Amino acid sequence: MIITIDGPAAAGKGTLAGTLSRKYNLAYFDTGMVYRAVGLEMVLTRQDVTDENSAERVAKDLTFQKMHMLAENRDFRSDVGGKAASVVSAHPKVRKALLKMQQDFSLNPTFADGTPAAGAIYDGRDTGTVVCPQADVKFFVTASPEVRAMRRFKEFQQKGIETTYEKVLADMKARDERDSQRAAAPLKPAPDAVILDTSALSIEEVIKKAEEIISQKQKSLEK
Ligand code: C5P
Repeated sequence: MIITIDGPAAAGKGTLAGTLSRKYNLAYFDTGMVYRAVGLEMVLTRQDVTDENSAERVAKDLTFQKMHMLAENRDFRSDVGGKAASVVSAHPKVRKALLKMQQDFSLNPTFADGTPAAGAIYDGRDTGTVVCPQADVKFFVTASPEVRAMRRFKEFQQKGIETTYEKVLADMKARDERDSQRAAAPLKPAPDAVILDTSALSIEEVIKKAEEIISQKQKSLEK
């Protein structure tokens, strides 16, 4: 089974994907990592993230091994990594160069330790529309920018990262704008995606709803 979860930053995709991957024993691919890896590699090697051809070269050289190494860097998950990812991901050549790596995972999904899995769960922006349009179940997880900014602000506070709610909200809105206005794979739900709005729902409610939809799908696949 292939499940895709798309949506804007801090909507709750990662939490949902992690829970579902454990429950259904599916390999998990956080596709934001490929863009963070390209963006961070460029920042670390002092390349211009707005230069599409340089970014394409870095994207073409990316491997899972390199991506996991870059993920050890403290800036991989910080605003530095997020912003660089958002800029490089708007380049069509970069998206094209990273597509096969993402699609191949669904043909041969593996857990972090390399053991094979029966299926995969993807989390990103275009996994239900571009990467895996054939997915069995598609979710689009969203929430208002204010709710998402507050969640991200609290995460930063817990990690001891100094910032303000206003700055996080402004960054969040700028990232939403870039992700949804770009010409290449703009952020939007697949026509057959189930929309889960987490502004008013608790994470437990979201997980329950998602599990009901997956169970229905499993029953229809068994028929
Ligand atoms: O999800 P995450 O915050 O790690 O993603 C970082 C950036 O990578 C996003 O802001 C988005 O611009 C880009 N991205 C993308 N397509 C995906 C996943 C992430 O464009 N499938």
